[in-house]
Amino acid sequence: MIEMRQVEKFYGPFHALKGIDFSVTKGEKIVLCGPSGSGKSTLIRCINHLEPIASGEIVVAGHRLSDSQDAVDAVRREVGMVFQQFNLFPHKTVLENCILAPMRVRKLSRAEAEETARKYLERVRIGDQAAKYPAQLSGGQQQRVAIARALCMEPKAMLFDEPTSALDPEMVKEVLDTMVSLARDGMTMICVTHEMGFARQVADRVIFMADGEIVEENAPDAFFSNPRHERSRAFLGEIL
Ligand code: ATP
Ligand code: MG
Repeated sequence: MIEMRQVEKFYGPFHALKGIDFSVTKGEKIVLCGPSGSGKSTLIRCINHLEPIASGEIVVAGHRLSDSQDAVDAVRREVGMVFQQFNLFPHKTVLENCILAPMRVRKLSRAEAEETARKYLERVRIGDQAAKYPAQLSGGQQQRVAIARALCMEPKAMLFDEPTSALDPEMVKEVLDTMVSLARDGMTMICVTHEMGFARQVADRVIFMADGEIVEENAPDAFFSNPRHERSRAFLGEIL
């Protein structure tokens, strides 16, 4: 579903991703973790070409990213992304936030887009908030709207970049519960998160990055109980 081969990424002279090689099969759930600045956000932003790469290859759902703008557009249609900051349109209601891209990109009629939006807003248990503006919602509710908005594109995979780290502690669980339920439904997911309970509960694999490299890749139990690398051990020592 998602393949990265020998991906190199620079910001000016800074080498941000070094020979990244990994693949995610359909239905797999990956948790990506590592210290601040290790390249986690860069890696997932490369997957939908929010960041261009210097060399290597990224293939998503059969589309080779370097091929053309068409391939980039196709990948963005098929891969949903949820950020730490919810990035909702502040002057649009929840429902409008959810119907814009499906109407523009998937060419749904307004009625079809609204039906889809209501379905996914129910799915994240926020159907009763459709007429509100983002500022009228709690952080946890806004993040669930962001998830519903991504789901309205009926993506084949979802990328999450620290979706709970901007939330007050009491709202973290409602967002994680939504993600667990998506995982249980078989969604292919890459989640950058330091929520290790979530990793244990749903991840098929944990990928640990440091300094732009994948240092360790392991099943969650093995990663937490018996990390193989010094850097993973140091990292786990800090966050657990
Ligand atoms: P965090 O846990 O803090 O979110 P991260 O693992 O997501 O960190 P990235 O945001 O991918 O790290 O950044 C990796 C490295 O690339 C960092 O050293 C960062 O300073 C650098 N970097 C990221 N974006 C840019 C940019 N637009 N221009 C220059 N350097 C950047
Ligand atoms: Mg980041």
